[in-house]
Amino acid sequence: MTEKIVSRKKVWGTPKLRVPLPFSFFCPGCHYGIIVRLICEVLEELGIEGRTVGLAGVGCSFGPFPVSIDVDFTSCPHGRAPAMATAIKRIHPETVVFTVQGDGDLGSIGLGCFMNALIRGEKLTTIFLNNACYGTTGGQMAPTTLIGMKTTTTPEGRDPRTAGFPLHTAELAATMKGVAYSARCTVHSPANFRRARKALKTAFQKQIDGIGYGFVEFLSACPTNWRLSPPDCIKFISEKMIAEYPLGEFKNVDVIELPEEWR
Ligand code: SF4
Repeated sequence: MTEKIVSRKKVWGTPKLRVPLPFSFFCPGCHYGIIVRLICEVLEELGIEGRTVGLAGVGCSFGPFPVSIDVDFTSCPHGRAPAMATAIKRIHPETVVFTVQGDGDLGSIGLGCFMNALIRGEKLTTIFLNNACYGTTGGQMAPTTLIGMKTTTTPEGRDPRTAGFPLHTAELAATMKGVAYSARCTVHSPANFRRARKALKTAFQKQIDGIGYGFVEFLSACPTNWRLSPPDCIKFISEKMIAEYPLGEFKNVDVIELPEEWR
């Protein structure tokens, strides 16, 4: 009788940095849980978990991200994650420091703090969660809300004549000289998850190599405040969000050019 050799390849598992919790902090269909997993996978693949510090802004990431990822991780006063990250990075330059911030925290309350970190060209990594509303506080309009999108503060839809236009953070970051990498991703399909993993890895690598700021924006579903089912949220991202916020890399450089006298 011939012996049949079966090779087994592991195709699924939980990242070791993912803290096992008895429940999920996130609403059903929220993409934050997928992004938590993605961060764990990237930190493990880069082998930097022992020297990484995370900082979460105010929003749905505030408590859940720090307790879900097994690295030194804390929450910050509203909008101030880039300032705290700057202090930690400058005191401990060997540490890999990243922030996780939502639309309100980064794009509204903390926009000045974020912009100044970009202007200074801090060697940080920022993960920006764009769900086009203020998720935690009841789905109010955020700077990233789409034109015509209904929120609790724009019941007739965002009117550009009075409420302006959506904030394009990844494109904005790409215009700053101290930024080495800027990209926009989603995790709403397996192919996009793989692209997002590559983008996040690159953003961290820019910091590890001492090149400059790395920024990755994630378009993320908020079924509770969008008042859509999880499958309809995926459709909304594919048809509406990506039309306003195109995916891809907006900047990827290996050198930040300095004036000759400062090299
Ligand atoms: S409110 Fe929205 S962003 Fe917050 S956990 Fe629920 S679905 Fe996610």
